Amino acid sequence: MSEKKKKKLALHWKILIGMALGVVFSLLLLSTSWGSSMTTYLVNGEETPINKAELFVRHWIKPFGNMFINALKLIAVPLILGSLIKGVSDLKDISKLSKMGLRTIMTYLATTIIAVSIGLIIVNIVQPGKTISSETRDVLLENYSGKAQEKIKSASEQKESGPLRALEDLIPDNIFAAATDNGNMLQVIVFAIFFGIGLILISDDKSAPVKAFFDGFNEVILKLIDLIMLVAPIGVFALMAGLVVESPSQDLFVGLFWYAISVVIGLLLMIIIYTLLVYVFTRKTPKFFLNGISPAQLLAFSTSSSAATLPVTMERVEEHLGVKEEVTSFVLPIGATINMDGTSLYQAVAAIFIAQVFGMDLDLYAQLGIIATATLASIGSAAVPGAGMVMLVIVLAQAGIPEAGLALIFAIDRPLDMLRTTVNVTGDAAVSMIIAKSVGKLGDPQVRDWDDHYGEKPLDHV
Ligand code: ASP
Repeated sequence: MSEKKKKKLALHWKILIGMALGVVFSLLLLSTSWGSSMTTYLVNGEETPINKAELFVRHWIKPFGNMFINALKLIAVPLILGSLIKGVSDLKDISKLSKMGLRTIMTYLATTIIAVSIGLIIVNIVQPGKTISSETRDVLLENYSGKAQEKIKSASEQKESGPLRALEDLIPDNIFAAATDNGNMLQVIVFAIFFGIGLILISDDKSAPVKAFFDGFNEVILKLIDLIMLVAPIGVFALMAGLVVESPSQDLFVGLFWYAISVVIGLLLMIIIYTLLVYVFTRKTPKFFLNGISPAQLLAFSTSSSAATLPVTMERVEEHLGVKEEVTSFVLPIGATINMDGTSLYQAVAAIFIAQVFGMDLDLYAQLGIIATATLASIGSAAVPGAGMVMLVIVLAQAGIPEAGLALIFAIDRPLDMLRTTVNVTGDAAVSMIIAKSVGKLGDPQVRDWDDHYGEKPLDHV
């Protein structure tokens, strides 16, 4: 009895504790003799020197983090299929769908343009590129040129396509093939919407069993998210431990301090803007919004992947922020793939920073061009770690900034990726609340699951 009455720790605290323990664990391990005793590790058939602490974490801790991310990614495609088909068919009316679709795309576009503009303003005020000495610049260029070339190569594969290629890619020629690649999320979304429309258009007696199937299917997937979230604290522990042992030397971070600060200030401003927008349009307080979405933010931070975080974002927005499933199932998967405000802001700051380091002065016209290319590049960025940097190559190329400059920002890209992914996910959640309010689909939170601390129901029925 007293056991049941005990208040459970909120999920975001458990995740935060997991993250903190992961960092502390790796720092302690690095401070032992293992941190300084070297051994070798086989990377692509080549013996690479590595300290024993890193080897231990790579072999025995990081795999648990990878398993956690894999489990999240595993349910992304079934989740989109199940919830979107159900969500669209629940709308019962195609005009409602197109109204919501148009509003969603326009709002996403608006927030992205705001983000890029904020990034440009900050980087022009702070001028982080002017703080880099030529020695630091040369060291960075030399240390990271190999890695930068890899990104440039993957970007050039994307560039070699016609102007309508992105549109062409929206339509899969085989749904099973599309569903086997998490990178094809947009194709799965298109199929699910198409299928949902078909379901609306056929007679009720024919559609009822199909809808009932997807209803049940969807419930199962939501339960799987709960199960996966039970191990989230362990998953993030492993992910953070891995990141700490693998992070590059601190010295280079110092040179990039003002660049990183510019990105961080911009990202913080975006979070403030979201909370204000949510308050203005829905009258929900920043505390309500941030409390509801925080576990998804923490996961975005630990995984650097909006796609891997999507299942949790959907669960939080629906159950904790009160957005009806018809809206979350539509707005959030689309947002995870095309709405990346954090990424677009970062791309704008990074592009101008690199230009500044190379002593280039970009006029207003060139900077307006960056607003357009960074908006498009963020839409085209995949929702996976490091994708924003690949698309940054395109922004650089359009603005005539040397692509090799990518090497300058490599050292600090991962922590910034963690932060921008957090903003990407927060932006999706904020927009889905605004859209839900505008179409009358914002209600009270309905927490149903036993992974959450709300209510005393948890586990009682098990
Ligand atoms: N990691 C980001 C995301 O998944 C994309 C990026 O900016 O690299 O949202």
